[in-house]
Amino acid sequence: MIVLFTDLDGTLLDHHTYRPGPALPELRRLQAAGVLVVPATAKTPAELAWLADEFGLPGPYIAENGAAVVGAGVDRVLGLPYDEVRARLRDAAGAAGAEVAGFGDATVEDVMSWTGLDRPAAVRARQRRWSETFRLLSGDECALAAALAERGLTMARGARFRTALGRHDKGDAARLLLAVLGPDAVSWAVGDAANDFALLAAVRHPMLVRAHDGTWADLDLPDLLRLDGIGPAGWAQAARHILPP
Ligand SMILES: [Mg+2]
Repeated sequence: MIVLFTDLDGTLLDHHTYRPGPALPELRRLQAAGVLVVPATAKTPAELAWLADEFGLPGPYIAENGAAVVGAGVDRVLGLPYDEVRARLRDAAGAAGAEVAGFGDATVEDVMSWTGLDRPAAVRARQRRWSETFRLLSGDECALAAALAERGLTMARGARFRTALGRHDKGDAARLLLAVLGPDAVSWAVGDAANDFALLAAVRHPMLVRAHDGTWADLDLPDLLRLDGIGPAGWAQAARHILPP
């Protein structure tokens, strides 16, 4: 069995359009050949359920940066409850002299303008269960990260936002799912950003697409395959590495 863990924003989905474009036929080809494609993302279960319908990704999923593995008969939570994460984030921001604006502080309209998402998508993005996505409005990033660490949280950095979450990452969730699947599963992963490092480190075959600005994230991993394409174009190349057409 082949398992492909994939980041979504900037990897399977275009950074600007949120669509898979040239990756879609390759995704279908892998699925038809029995490859288990597992989204691993900061997205919420509500967003992932919608994507399942829209792009035919039946699950399981790694949601909210590794806080949970859900779907297709798997239901394992590694994360802290959302209200607890928000309380610790507020406390840490106060201690670090930082000003943050979380999705939970924001209106649906705010989230729409920050992300460019339409209203239903912004509603789904706000339905967070184990992690808080936020903008750092002022203050020092390192001081905030240290204050979060003192409170048992870590901070993940995406292209647009930071996310506060418990001490788990996409890699922990990937290892959990691989343990469920058993030793015969051959693991691949593809990402575009520094916050995919733990995921890429958890698999046998890590791959990196170019980010939307045309650069590769500065990741140092043995056997990391750097693909030429940006986002979904790189994803299509990744699929051809896994399973030559
Ligand atoms: Mg990404």
